[in-house]
Amino acid sequence: MSDRPLPGISGLTPDELAAWVLAHGQPAYRARQIADAVWKDGGVTDAEHVRTLPQGLRDTLGEAFRFDTVSDTEIRLADGGQTEKALHRLDDGALIESVLMHYPARGASRERHTLCLSSQAGCAVGCPFCATGELGFGRDLEVAEIVDQARAAERRLATDGRHLTNIVFMGMGEPLLNLDRVLAAVEALNDPRRFGLGARHITVSTSGVVPGIRRLTALGPQFTLAISLHAARDALRDVLVPLNRRWPVAEVVDAARDHARTTGRRISYEVTMIGGVNDTDRDATALAELLRGDHAHVNLIPMNPVAHTPWQASPMPTIERFASTLRDAGIGTTIRRNRGQEVGAACGQLAAERTGEPPAPAVARRRERLVTESAAALRGERSHEPLTAGVGD
Ligand code: SAH
Ligand code: SF4
Repeated sequence: MSDRPLPGISGLTPDELAAWVLAHGQPAYRARQIADAVWKDGGVTDAEHVRTLPQGLRDTLGEAFRFDTVSDTEIRLADGGQTEKALHRLDDGALIESVLMHYPARGASRERHTLCLSSQAGCAVGCPFCATGELGFGRDLEVAEIVDQARAAERRLATDGRHLTNIVFMGMGEPLLNLDRVLAAVEALNDPRRFGLGARHITVSTSGVVPGIRRLTALGPQFTLAISLHAARDALRDVLVPLNRRWPVAEVVDAARDHARTTGRRISYEVTMIGGVNDTDRDATALAELLRGDHAHVNLIPMNPVAHTPWQASPMPTIERFASTLRDAGIGTTIRRNRGQEVGAACGQLAAERTGEPPAPAVARRRERLVTESAAALRGERSHEPLTAGVGD
């Protein structure tokens, strides 16, 4: 016996499941019965609960697959129950999080239930305002581990006859650095025979992995692509998104433009608004010039406080002013209110604090370094010093 855990059944394609059924001398319709049990209303968490199967087959199935790869989950509520943060402990002890947000019906729009899920444990990109970035990289998630976050949320909703309406890959990790598995997971989430959520209701957010964006463009529209831009000037973006050293702003926006042109789908840009750092008039103008005339939409998100940074969210009037500059340039702009702050459950704030708080002196040193690093960037100079965190080189 190997130590490797059994594969998660939700990571199997319909063809793989059919092949397994065939290899076990079972009639083909068993595959349909198993799939129904795995996917309906979030599905069962144990082979034993696949009631349509004879006992012998249930046993064989349970010895071959795990029916839930995020079974060790703890839920915390925020925003008067409108936000549910799930902390999942995976088989190897890795901690990841997903956040379910409920939005009541308003005017013509129906009620929504949006899940923000993780694609990796930790993240290698190391954006300094992000709690996950501070953790560093743990590992890539398996397809089933990604999909099972959605099945778990769907199961909770289904008890009240509700269903997930939207999925955003904005939890822990950089989805485009785990792209094969993320694509397989999106296919499962999208497939009407499996999770069955329309491609238009799935958003994948990236910090700007250009080869990944180009690969997605070649594949055609799979989901809405969101780009975490945060700054239009390289000097500042080098600090806020260390990956910018490898793929600078112009290359990221070029790739995003090609994606919009080829797929006909609007690109959505995210800007986390950090007081006195990326919210100046100069930054607003630079962003307006960069995106003028594009088929794009900008979301401005007040930064959630994160312990190891000296930074705070921009004040609302500053965000409003920033938004006006963009709108005056004809760029659709939304200001997004954050959810779940009191339990550290806002998207991008997922850091499984169980891993232990960093000691106070380390936090102080980190904050000091960020101030120094951003000082030159704020003056508009691009530093050639190696950054303290980042990917590769
Ligand atoms: N790695 C991907 C997806 C996960 S992060 C990416 O960066 O796009 C999801 C979003 O949360 C990103 O737009 C990220 O910039 C944002 N985010 C991270 N930390 C944040 C914070 N402290 N406050 C507000 N938004 C934050
Ligand atoms: Fe990684 Fe996204 Fe956080 Fe940056 S913002 S560290 S890319 S999870």
